[in-house]
Amino acid sequence: MRERLRVTVRGAVQGVGFRPFVYRLARDLGLDGFVMNSPLGVVVEVEGEAAQLEQCLLRLDRDRPPRAVIQSLESSWLDTVPHAAFEIRDSAEQGPPTALVLPDVATCDDCRHEIFDPANRRYRYPFTNCTNCGPRFSIINSLPYDRARTSMRAFTMCPACQREYDDPADRRFHAQPNACAACGPRLLLWDAAGAELAARGDALSAAAAAIREGRIVAVKGLGGFHLMVDASNGPAVARLRARKHREEKPFALMYARLADAYEDCRLSAAETRLLESPERPIVLLRHRGLSEAGRVVATVAPRNPYLGAMLPCTPLHHLLLAETDGPVVATSGNLSNEPMATDEHDALDRLGGIADLFLVHDRPIVRHVDDSIACVMLGRELVTRRARGYAPLPVPLGREMPPMVAVGAHQKSAVAMTVGSNVFISQHLGDLESAQSVVAFEDALRSLQTLYHVKPALVAADLHPDYLSSRHAAELGLPLVLVQHHHAHVASCMAENGLEGSVLGVAWDGTGYGGDGTIWGGEFLLCDGPSFTRAACLRPFRLPGGDRAAREPRRAALGLLHAVGLVAAGTADGPMSRAFEPRERDLMVQALDRRLNSPITTSAGRLFDAVAAIVGLRALTTFEGQAAMELEFAVDETTDDGYPFTIDERVALFAPGPSWAAPRAVVDWEPMMRAVLADVRSGASVGVISARFHNTLAEMIVATAAFVADPRVVLTGGCFQNRYLTTRTVTRLRQAGFRPYWHQRVPPNDGGIALGQIAASSHSI
Ligand code: ZN
Ligand code: ZN
Ligand code: FE
Repeated sequence: MRERLRVTVRGAVQGVGFRPFVYRLARDLGLDGFVMNSPLGVVVEVEGEAAQLEQCLLRLDRDRPPRAVIQSLESSWLDTVPHAAFEIRDSAEQGPPTALVLPDVATCDDCRHEIFDPANRRYRYPFTNCTNCGPRFSIINSLPYDRARTSMRAFTMCPACQREYDDPADRRFHAQPNACAACGPRLLLWDAAGAELAARGDALSAAAAAIREGRIVAVKGLGGFHLMVDASNGPAVARLRARKHREEKPFALMYARLADAYEDCRLSAAETRLLESPERPIVLLRHRGLSEAGRVVATVAPRNPYLGAMLPCTPLHHLLLAETDGPVVATSGNLSNEPMATDEHDALDRLGGIADLFLVHDRPIVRHVDDSIACVMLGRELVTRRARGYAPLPVPLGREMPPMVAVGAHQKSAVAMTVGSNVFISQHLGDLESAQSVVAFEDALRSLQTLYHVKPALVAADLHPDYLSSRHAAELGLPLVLVQHHHAHVASCMAENGLEGSVLGVAWDGTGYGGDGTIWGGEFLLCDGPSFTRAACLRPFRLPGGDRAAREPRRAALGLLHAVGLVAAGTADGPMSRAFEPRERDLMVQALDRRLNSPITTSAGRLFDAVAAIVGLRALTTFEGQAAMELEFAVDETTDDGYPFTIDERVALFAPGPSWAAPRAVVDWEPMMRAVLADVRSGASVGVISARFHNTLAEMIVATAAFVADPRVVLTGGCFQNRYLTTRTVTRLRQAGFRPYWHQRVPPNDGGIALGQIAASSHSI
């Protein structure tokens, strides 16, 4: 099957023979399409078979001309448009060039060689950078990008640095953050009280030694603080978990070099490219097994077949890792769901009870930028947390837009703004539940407008009346467009896949406000431009305790079983009996009977939770999504069958609401749940039950697609971070003759909502 790949390459790629190189590469691989310069960078579009396109993507980076430096390479897989041959097109110069704020770029090879070269004047200097690499988004106050408008303005260049900066032939010509040990930022090592223990190279060595000895070191990096600890030291990892109150959620790892990651993980060519890319995200990699004696102890990622691994992205991290003798845990320096700490004095306060030592420096961080998280799914890159390396690059919408902002949702917050036909998306801001996140949210909204000198004429927000983001939007004094949560999910996925016209959007997540007073989350929306109808939804059930059910899969299980008459007060038998104290269970059943504090939901996320609880995998969770993740990891991939289900068109309305909220059909999971219970009773393994459950969900999507009969099916929402579900659904939809789409550069979770809010409202303006 032919596909189209669009790659936007930014960096030193204009005037270095890059376009002829792309031309030869495309001809060599037999691909049609074009390459052209545009205000956003060099745009390459190629069409051909997927394997050739994957080759093209890898070789664009690997075989590039010697003088070309890539600072960012974004790819999107799109539907084909007929291209006759491959051509070099004239530059697209429509309108004024958009001055782009680039993301922070990982240390280039030249700078890396310098810091490890004892003869170089930047030997061991942790803030080395050049025109091709270094901090950008995390140090910029406003545009145009020059030193006086960055947090480097406090440092005056020494004569040697100034000479480099002024010399057009130098790699550091106009490198705004240019610095050296004589004139630039310096490192300090502090104890937990903020007393200085060492400076410069000594601070670096002492911090590395402390990590080797099992201590927890808070390290001020590019976009914020990391907490670092030796990944091979079980007691040290346990201490970090206890102090951070992070019981089981996996920690990210930083490896000194690619070869070390190879020893612990299995990497494909695409995963290797991603790990080494200038974006340097945390990449989810399948590990080869963890043990207490290994270089990475199992408690780094308990009961998880993946490791979130990254390579150093700054000279400081390269130098530190070169001295720690092995990978380190590098987790965000924050308490759960807050943004990373960025200021060293604030860090002393917030991380005081966690870190033993603080490795800090005196270059201010203008805005926090977390590590991004990405993986390779179905051969394509999927970003699930969009921050360092990606933000604030735009997604092109393909149509001119009035100036508007979107405030996103509530969890995994991110905001967005239009400039012309581009949507600029902020970095990941965390859940809007702590004072710090709210400040970060307001800052991000303000700073996008300042950076691009945009005065928004319109604001888009979630329909949820109680979201802090929606309330903030209402107070901006601008015309307000409210977008239903799952409609925004679908619009987001459509926008990044360049889709117009009608699609069937499958939006599955944990929670979203429906507009009929119920909690949606298992939606099939027939979307066309600004409007949608609810073609179908999963059968609703009640959640005893409402929000508390998100942390207690046993509540979802009880609500689900109650909905089909499989539990009643006073009965203590059944698969769920061990998950509750009998009295506790009776109280919950009574609440369900009386419909007290048990909101109605169609949530697919809670369906995963319910099954995880019923098979005995997990009754209570310690972090969001844990039960669903463990259920996915349990899948026995040799099991190919599924359970029965029905699509019921005789829909009794379960809540009064607007006409678009009334589903045409309900996908009924009752036959599936009865079969799950029968499997549990007959002693089938969790792996087999989990596989059958996942397979059934994929069949539900295929059957609903057939019922709706729209050829294009868009998969979106947090549930499609699940690799098994997404891969199975895409495969089965293709087999059944549908064209599936999923996310690539924009997260399927609520981090993609802001883009969707703009895309959904843009038609109606
Ligand atoms: Zn460099
Ligand atoms: Zn200098
Ligand atoms: Fe959502």
